[in-house]
Amino acid sequence: MQQKMTQVVIIGAGPTGLTLAMLLAKRGITVKLIEASRSFRRIFRGEALMPSGLEAIAHLGLADIVEQIPHRSIDAWEFYIENRPLFRVNEPMEPGGKPCTLISQPAFLEAVGKKANECESFELFQGTGVQDLLWQNDRVFGVKLGDGSAIAADIVIGADGRNSIVRQKANLSLEQEAQSFDILWFKLPTSPQFASENVFYSLVRDRDGFGVFQGSEGNLQVGWSLHKDDPIEWQNINWAEKLASASPDWLAAHFRQQAGSIERPLLLSIVVGRCLHWQIPGLLLLGDAAHPMSPIRAQGINMALRDVVVAANHLVPLLQQQPNLAAIDAVLPQIQAQREPEIVQIQNLQRAEVAQAELLRNNPLLRYGVSRLAPLLRNKIRQSWLKRQLQLRQGFAQVDLKV
Ligand SMILES: Cc1cc2nc3c(=O)[nH]c(=O)nc-3n(C[C@H](O)[C@H](O)[C@H](O)COP(=O)(O)OP(=O)(O)OC[C@H]3O[C@@H](n4cnc5c(N)ncnc54)[C@H](O)[C@@H]3O)c2cc1C
Repeated sequence: MQQKMTQVVIIGAGPTGLTLAMLLAKRGITVKLIEASRSFRRIFRGEALMPSGLEAIAHLGLADIVEQIPHRSIDAWEFYIENRPLFRVNEPMEPGGKPCTLISQPAFLEAVGKKANECESFELFQGTGVQDLLWQNDRVFGVKLGDGSAIAADIVIGADGRNSIVRQKANLSLEQEAQSFDILWFKLPTSPQFASENVFYSLVRDRDGFGVFQGSEGNLQVGWSLHKDDPIEWQNINWAEKLASASPDWLAAHFRQQAGSIERPLLLSIVVGRCLHWQIPGLLLLGDAAHPMSPIRAQGINMALRDVVVAANHLVPLLQQQPNLAAIDAVLPQIQAQREPEIVQIQNLQRAEVAQAELLRNNPLLRYGVSRLAPLLRNKIRQSWLKRQLQLRQGFAQVDLKV
């Protein structure tokens, strides 16, 4: 009689779910991946990878993909306050290190999907989301899709992002941090200024703050912090003027010139937090589903990919055998235990970045002082920012693929 293979169902084909599915399938494990969207080209997907994420990509055997898809490194980070330059840091920040790299996330996911599709043991169900979990006694044993069909599994992995349905259906509560802002995301044609050097600009003027850089596919991207206590009606604003008024002259001129081509912004809600428990028998949460990350300093994809490496180390040896459900359930808490300390530290650093921005936002005198005394304060502020970035970029744990 043929041996029954362990069957894995993964929900969500974002960076977490797709890379894990590909890796398991490459190791001969039967994986069904379920993605609610019809294509990977959904409206917004973050694209900055830090050295910690690039390292995980190399471990996952995907470094060649980064080279083949639209990508571009950041050359420097520059900060302006009240339209005056504050400080600049060049990339890479570590001698001999890798620069922060922007990749087209849809192209990355499409390429990983192609790699997974080469494996007979991989199957992608796209266009219908998971609606519920199936239970047997107190163990999860599969999922129910929006079209009414059901898929059984020896282990279900929820990688369905920050508003995870799997998390909700499994009653795994999220300890959510209150966030004072969401992000408005704009795209517009690029400026020649970014052709020779791709600088990520962070600009603060009055109570407004935003970041601007040239994305991997060549357009200019703007992330505007939309504070919840800000009375603006963002749908009805002349954004070219608003962006221009908070920008140095050359950038202001570009925003005004492109007024007709600035697309209506997309409102992206920010969810940040951690689940106390990432697992119950038969089910594991990974990536944003377990610990939704702030967009500050581009950490979420990086942490997601590092979750995947650690989860694979624990799961692959068990999943390559006949199903042993008790052994699978026993290993799930170890994955959380190994990943959680780094997530806690990274979220703490992100919180410190936000706190600093809030301090400036709420204190006009401080903004004025910092902008006027920039030549004197520049080095000190730069050093303190740099110290935090070095930790944010490298991560806190050694994450090596062992299977
Ligand atoms: C404005 C903003 C900018 C960001 N920029 C960056 C950045 O530059 N770099 C970075 O590292 N991080 C960034 N992040 C964070 C990053 O986007 C996330 O941390 C990362 O995408 C998490 O990956 P994931 O695979 O866990 O979840 P997701 O990328 O959210 O993927 C989840 C997938 O699950 C699917 N799904 C959802 N529900 C269901 C369902 N019921 N059934 C089936 N499928 C479902 C979704 O369609 C989606 O494809 C940003 C976040 C925001 C909000």
